[in-house]
Amino acid sequence: MREHGALPPFSVRESTRAQRVILKIFPGKGLEVVVPAGFDRARIPSILHEKREWIDSVFRKIQHRVEPRSDASVLPRTVELKAVNRRYSVAYTRSHGGKTELIHLPDSRLELVGNVTDPKTCRELLHLWLKHQGRGQLIPWLHRLSQQTGLTCDRVQVREQKSRWGSCSSRGTISLNCRLLFLPPEWVRYVLIHELCHTVHLDHSPRFWDLVARLEPSYKALDADVNRAHHHVPSWALG
Ligand SMILES: [Zn+2]
Repeated sequence: MREHGALPPFSVRESTRAQRVILKIFPGKGLEVVVPAGFDRARIPSILHEKREWIDSVFRKIQHRVEPRSDASVLPRTVELKAVNRRYSVAYTRSHGGKTELIHLPDSRLELVGNVTDPKTCRELLHLWLKHQGRGQLIPWLHRLSQQTGLTCDRVQVREQKSRWGSCSSRGTISLNCRLLFLPPEWVRYVLIHELCHTVHLDHSPRFWDLVARLEPSYKALDADVNRAHHHVPSWALG
């Protein structure tokens, strides 16, 4: 029995060299129908229906190949930013042609549209989004804490550091890791206070810890928590 479900999306290419209709299926690109010059395109759907079994079997094989790389750990269905108590759903919509894009929809919904079978592109777009969220959330948070504590910070940047949650340069520039958004808020607050204290003492001297302790009495436990916090980062957001 052949199924007569909807045809998969396909693109059509005219070739002067083609003598007959040729079907090509590429991973990540989908079905391409190559037709001889002047071919009546209205005939394409019936040809595809005839070849349906073959098309489906090739797509199944390709899907199997793609699957191990596009599982939930690589491409998330939800993104939870614990630091700011937000949860986003992520949808993937395949479309042909044009750039792959991440669209921000109402109600905390994200949608990736385009070549969504390419995990690398999807991940890059999600990383960019995460950095953008980091700037929008962590920088104002740091400024609020700066006002509350009286510790001034002239320059702050949000990056994707490999191994550090935050750092403070000798010029007083604080760099924050956008992956902090995956941690509980009290841990993030501690990291921000820790870095603000570095604008006064650049080292980890007793004077530095005295200042930290004054602003956050449970700093020891928080410091231990934060140092073990990397497992809170989902695997798609690593690397
Ligand atoms: Zn430090």
